[in-house]
Amino acid sequence: MLSEEEAKKFHGHLGPYLLLGYIAGKYAVDKLKPKNEFELKAMIKCPLKTPFSCAIDGLQCSSSCTFGKGNIKVEDGNDIEVEVGSGDKRIFFKVRKEVLKKLEELDMQEGIKWLRSLQVEEIYEIE
Ligand SMILES: [Zn+2]
Repeated sequence: MLSEEEAKKFHGHLGPYLLLGYIAGKYAVDKLKPKNEFELKAMIKCPLKTPFSCAIDGLQCSSSCTFGKGNIKVEDGNDIEVEVGSGDKRIFFKVRKEVLKKLEELDMQEGIKWLRSLQVEEIYEIE
């Protein structure tokens, strides 16, 4: 798993949407404990435009599910939803509506600071 700092280097900047994707991937890795970088499969559905699509990079950096290895799929959608699986285990994340709404009102730095003050369960509905 790349650190947040490494994710920032990979992506070019650290923004709240990068962090959103990173947080979901990290949570999934902590729960599913993959043995290698091929084990997890990820799917992310989000608007395919920045800043929302920045979440795709965040997810790749923390989950090690990458385009190059073909274990991440991206779909266009209105919200931000992430699914990470390993074998028959699945974790499904959906960013809470109020989180997306609030992020639109905050600038990048405020958004990051605010996200860091929240628990993962306050950011995402998790199943
Ligand atoms: Zn970005």
